[in-house]
Amino acid sequence: MVETVKTSQEAIALEDRHGAHNYHPLPVVLAKGEGVYLWDVEGKQYYDFLSAYSAVNQGHCHPRIINSLIEQAKELTLTSRAFYNNTLGSYEKYVTQYFGYDKVLPMNTGAEAVETAIKISRKWGYEVKGIPSGQAQIIVCHNNFHGRTTTIISASNDPVARENFGPYTPGIISIPYNDLEALQDALNNEHVAAFLVEPIQGEAGVFVPDEGYLKKASEMCRGKNVLFVADEVQTGIARTGRLLATHHEDVKADVLVLGKALSGGVLPVSAVLANDNVMKVITPGTHGSTFGGNPLANKVAVTALEVVKDENLAENAEKLGKLFRERMEDLISKTDLVQLVRGKGLLNAIVINDTEDSETAWNICVALKENGLLAKPTHGNIIRFAPPLVMTEEQIHDCCDIIVKTIMNFN
Ligand SMILES: *Cc1c(COP(=O)(O)O)cnc(C)c1O
Repeated sequence: MVETVKTSQEAIALEDRHGAHNYHPLPVVLAKGEGVYLWDVEGKQYYDFLSAYSAVNQGHCHPRIINSLIEQAKELTLTSRAFYNNTLGSYEKYVTQYFGYDKVLPMNTGAEAVETAIKISRKWGYEVKGIPSGQAQIIVCHNNFHGRTTTIISASNDPVARENFGPYTPGIISIPYNDLEALQDALNNEHVAAFLVEPIQGEAGVFVPDEGYLKKASEMCRGKNVLFVADEVQTGIARTGRLLATHHEDVKADVLVLGKALSGGVLPVSAVLANDNVMKVITPGTHGSTFGGNPLANKVAVTALEVVKDENLAENAEKLGKLFRERMEDLISKTDLVQLVRGKGLLNAIVINDTEDSETAWNICVALKENGLLAKPTHGNIIRFAPPLVMTEEQIHDCCDIIVKTIMNFN
């Protein structure tokens, strides 16, 4: 018999006993979500300020997205790509026109999409650019987060993510983020196929590069016949106040990687988009996924993207983000506990005035939880604030009141 948990304590004990300990969650057990709200098993209501790492941009259990899920689930869920299905082509047409690319390759998780982008880049490097066999290099940035697969952690410099998972995948050059000179040096290498970069480093603590960095980097790549690959798994789909974070600088990536909010947090749906001159290297049998492009995902993704446009979520994120940062600047002028606020749209973070290994940010998040707002530290003393984009102005003020009250009373 499967146990139904009735208290948070029970649920936490079950996970602790039977699940691998690969996460250290905040002690809250969630049972229900709607829009910007979550409820725990005891019925306490919270504002969600993580949005499942920006997967739930459209808000929890968005009725239109859930309706698409239910309607399609009654018809057909999975055929594999061994056969055609009657939803994939329409989704592919919709998503490619939406983002302005010739072709899409559908996958499931963000990490799979990044892996796909790396594979496409290497194959393009050999077959189009003419890099000698087995020599292709991918440039990445220090403190990146692109996922958890063996190749991706090989591109990471986070010791916790890497340690004892070697041997590591070769062919990776790591340079400092937001450093055009380092990029110029790294590009002086005929074996480089691609530069893989996050337009804002989310997991690193919402690190926003200097204005012009992405534009210049993409131009430098073009000049060296190197693919500019944007990992917009976290920054994409209206989060930063534009449809894509690269749009802030009018950059069009050669290869665009999407995930998370592509399904509004309903299913794992990810995608790699590129034009024909790049995507043509993918031929039958060279890459695939049993679940990639499945009918449920196709229907859900179309509706999730429609909601982003119909509800003007990018414009709302831009407007509320400015409000949020103003309120935090005001807080910073009144307390020494917070050093700075940074971000774009509704992807923001505050830096707590304490050492990186201190418990302060964690303890502030526990206090925020007590006061009805859920957020999580990233990298020690940084707290990311990323609510669903369906939030109203009144709600963001309410949330800022909670944050201000919590921090002013924290000791
Ligand atoms: C979350 C994330 C990924 C990985 O996505 P998963 O679905 O967890 O595999 C990749 N890149 C970025 C920038 C992310 O934020």
